[in-house]
Amino acid sequence: MDAQSVQDALNSQLGQNARNLRRWAIYSAVLAIAAMVLSVPFQTLLGYSFGAFPFSEYVSPAVATVLFFTSGVVLFRGAAQELKAKRPSTLALVCLASIILFISSAAATIGLAAGLPGIGADLWWQLAAVVFLALIGRWLEVRFVQAANNSMPDLLSLLPAEAEQAIGDQTKKVDAADLAVGDIVVVRPDARVPADGVVIQGNSSIDESLVTGATGIQQKGEGDRVYAGSQNSSAAKRGKGALTVRITAVGSDLLVAAIMRHVEDAKSNVSNAQVRANTSALWLFYCALFAAIATGVFWIFATQSSLGFVVERVSSVLLVAAPATMVISIPMVALWTTSTAARAGLLVRQNLDAATKVQVLALGKTGVLTTGKFTVESISVSQGATVTSADELLSLAAAAETKSQHAIAVAVGEAARLKNLSLSPATNMQSISGVGVMAQIDGRQVAVGGPAILNRLNTQVSYDDLLRAAEANENGFTAIFVVVENVLCGQIQLADQIRDGAADALREMTARGIEVCLVTGDATGVASFVAKQVGIEKFYAEVHPDRKPGIVKQLQVDGIRVAFVGDSIEDASALAQADVGIAFGAGSDVSIESAGLVLINADPMSIPRAFTLAKRGLSKRRQNLTWTLGFSVVTLALAAGALAPIGLLVSPVASVVLVSLSTVIVAVNGQLLRR
Ligand code: ADP
Ligand code: MG
Repeated sequence: MDAQSVQDALNSQLGQNARNLRRWAIYSAVLAIAAMVLSVPFQTLLGYSFGAFPFSEYVSPAVATVLFFTSGVVLFRGAAQELKAKRPSTLALVCLASIILFISSAAATIGLAAGLPGIGADLWWQLAAVVFLALIGRWLEVRFVQAANNSMPDLLSLLPAEAEQAIGDQTKKVDAADLAVGDIVVVRPDARVPADGVVIQGNSSIDESLVTGATGIQQKGEGDRVYAGSQNSSAAKRGKGALTVRITAVGSDLLVAAIMRHVEDAKSNVSNAQVRANTSALWLFYCALFAAIATGVFWIFATQSSLGFVVERVSSVLLVAAPATMVISIPMVALWTTSTAARAGLLVRQNLDAATKVQVLALGKTGVLTTGKFTVESISVSQGATVTSADELLSLAAAAETKSQHAIAVAVGEAARLKNLSLSPATNMQSISGVGVMAQIDGRQVAVGGPAILNRLNTQVSYDDLLRAAEANENGFTAIFVVVENVLCGQIQLADQIRDGAADALREMTARGIEVCLVTGDATGVASFVAKQVGIEKFYAEVHPDRKPGIVKQLQVDGIRVAFVGDSIEDASALAQADVGIAFGAGSDVSIESAGLVLINADPMSIPRAFTLAKRGLSKRRQNLTWTLGFSVVTLALAAGALAPIGLLVSPVASVVLVSLSTVIVAVNGQLLRR
């Protein structure tokens, strides 16, 4: 059997649209009620009489026949679709059952007209009720699938049509679609951000919950990133709160566009669970066929049952199997999982099931457990330095760092700017990831970096410098060294903030029995400090980016499943090596293809949230599959007449009602994921 994507499964369900089906169901209800109340066997069953008039015994058959050849066609068309796709399912069985009911009833009526009673069995009213109820069941199915489908957020609708572009001192309204990278826009209170960008002026509170899933209002000021579709809060009114934003991404590069691509991908992903459900459904179809034949043979030959009884048992078996419920129960859960995840700012690229098996969680430090926004705390000039002042040291370092994107480089540059230092032009700039930078400044070779740069350059370090760095590290400060012409001239100590909720998030992970460890390129002292603050015992420090995948591999011994949380492109290979790669923060660019999971907002709590969702999604799918399987086995047996000796029989009409009930249970169970 070929793999069927979630989208395929849904499309086939959506083939018949809900409005059409509802119209057919209403029309069928009228005819079905008429066919029932006018039916002679039905009247006998309920012990009433509608009064006889000429040909009164033919009215119900006529009405049921009309119903069969009108509403029935809707079901037949659906069955034809199933067969064409080589995936015979519920509708094929419904049609088979109604054909059997029709033939038996038609034979009875023709026999009656021809004066040959005893041929066939008059089951007209049951046929009418079955066609009507099958349409209702079908309508329910389509509605539930649509609800799951519509639960996918449509973030593109959040994009404003117009933007206020700043040109010189003036602003003018432009089409948001015409904006380009580098343009400057003004976002006033209540307006939506037209494109992704960086705030260059102003302060305001922004509601980006619909875009990134971040809870509450975010304070944004100079240098902060804002995302298209998020809204400047109206609380920031009275002339204040306008943000000037330099656009950094437009069109398909927007965060919302990336999120929507993920959502679409998720829909067309073929999960193993879906393939298994489809296979089970096909099996169920053949089991139902076989059971129907066996039931017929048994009741005809093993007992002396009336033809009506046999036809009822056989069609009940066919009607109660309902393989479609099994098929749709899986994509419905998948859709609810993905949409619930997307709303919480979790983008699922890989099957989330892998997360339920994770035993070790390894996390980066900078940008994951800490905000990654360094600030320069202190600068010290070494003895024997060839620089004269802390300011000179800082300006050399800042000049060397100009090209680097590293958070440390940004902080150093910012500190120099605040002190109004003039930077000499740097040439031959070279950045060594996980180590530092080197450049030629005013004819001098300047290197800036962590302890690794000292080793690399074989620079002499005084005891005093080592002690100072070690003390800083132990208090959580990152120390970087400034080396001029291979002479250590001093160090710059930077502070970073541990993220709110980091300790709570990790405590939750530990409580689930997951071992947590820290992997960082920073010094051992800082790693140890941060680890302690967030309650981690195990850490790997001074790890060069190239060695990170090796550490993940090392953790994976004995088939242990490892999740790695990283925030930068440098972590890509570690993310790929891990069983579950988690990219943290939208700043880390959703383009990290190696991550199976992207946590858009840099909220540590979204880590346990993602694991919880993975677990709930998996268990919902299991529940649904177990339920549909168990339900099918029990109802098939009952429909076949297993409990006939104690008088428990399931009529064809009851079969269809039971199936609808099962659909409702499965769908509602999937929807519960939202909570
Ligand atoms: P992490 O693993 O915490 O993300 P990185 O691998 O980015 O850390 O960096 C490790 C260390 O390398 C930093 O703590 C710093 O000492 C040094 N380093 C890296 N890039 C730079 C830079 N541009 N300037 C100075 N130091 C740097
Ligand atoms: Mg890093």
